[in-house]
Amino acid sequence: MAGTNDTGADHSDELKTDTKVVHAGRDPRRFDGFVNTPVVRGSTVLYPSYDDLLHHRGRYSYGRRGNPTTESFEAALKALEGGDGVALTPSGLSAVSIALLSVVSAGDHILVVDTAYRPTRAFCGEVLARLGVETTYYDPLVGAGIADLIRDNTRAIFLEAPGSQSFEMQDVPAITAVARARGITTLIDNTWATPLFFKPHAFGVDISIQAGTKYIGGHADLNLGTISAVGPAWKKVISTHGTMGITISPDDAALGARGLRTLSVRLERHQKSGIEMAQWLAERPEVSRVLHPALPSDPGHAIWKRDFCGASGLFSLILNPVPDQAVAAFFDALKLFGMGYSWGGYESLAIPFDCTDYRTATDWDVEGPAVRLHIGLEDVADLKADLDQAFARMRAAA
Ligand SMILES: *Cc1c(COP(=O)(O)O)cnc(C)c1O
Repeated sequence: MAGTNDTGADHSDELKTDTKVVHAGRDPRRFDGFVNTPVVRGSTVLYPSYDDLLHHRGRYSYGRRGNPTTESFEAALKALEGGDGVALTPSGLSAVSIALLSVVSAGDHILVVDTAYRPTRAFCGEVLARLGVETTYYDPLVGAGIADLIRDNTRAIFLEAPGSQSFEMQDVPAITAVARARGITTLIDNTWATPLFFKPHAFGVDISIQAGTKYIGGHADLNLGTISAVGPAWKKVISTHGTMGITISPDDAALGARGLRTLSVRLERHQKSGIEMAQWLAERPEVSRVLHPALPSDPGHAIWKRDFCGASGLFSLILNPVPDQAVAAFFDALKLFGMGYSWGGYESLAIPFDCTDYRTATDWDVEGPAVRLHIGLEDVADLKADLDQAFARMRAAA
């Protein structure tokens, strides 16, 4: 049945994370020895007897409610997240929207970090507002001060750390301690760290969200969302998810599972190359600041070191002031870094960004143009050379 995550051998908690990444959710003996769970396409599930049909007896009941492929992938993710269950959605944004819809009702108030992924804000401002749910944005540095923003009708706090584009860290345990004491549900968009580098449930977060599109998929060929939850929040998530008819295709579940099996080794390289590129960029005359919590100079470094086990390959930089045409020359000169949204695939990417358009609780007042980089799995010497020649074009156009 969907959401029960009981597929596979017994992957007890004693197994190390890297072993779980490889083994969790798979049961080759069930599928004639094939290593991967097959792609099972199906809507109708036939019952062997009238009595079984009447009592909905059997492991599966109907395609929308889950099949061996989705169930196996959910089980693997559940083993990594350490919650009570995982629900799959067709995109990262739908994981955000379904998770929020699971915990709010008309008349409620929610707190959302000002540095949340922009489309998350759009969902709150357009859909939740229409349903009578009010959103207040808070400063990512609020910490235990979140208590002052809580109202009688505050039902949920939505976190994302580090912040989208600008990489501010948040004191997650300080916020969840306040929320727990008041019976408020906490949700986090944990896409940057993945469940390998930050364990939301171990820090008191009720609902942990992944845009599986990014590192879990890992190959820029899939949109996917995952929602892990604990306790009463899991019951709400699986009920809302099922009632709204959310499913993903078995093909996408198989792609997600395939990405997951190599997540640990890919992340290790993204981390190593990302930090090396960040350190190199911090020394460049064109760069004013690098925003990367794994750098000791970063304002969020102490929290990152305390709570996270690693850093992925996404970070930003603030350039020293240059005219717009010089920024355009920089981007147009890039050969290995692709220009495009999304990230978490094997390839390096670059985009410009500006948070002034949409943030409301904090000021985005930076000294120069802002650039977000995703460091892929290429050789860093080639990536440095690519940025070096693009900086030369930028200087020439300034
Ligand atoms: C990309 C992203 C999402 C949304 O994922 P989609 O699959 O594009 O809907 C959500 N949160 C964060 C932090 C993201 O980077």
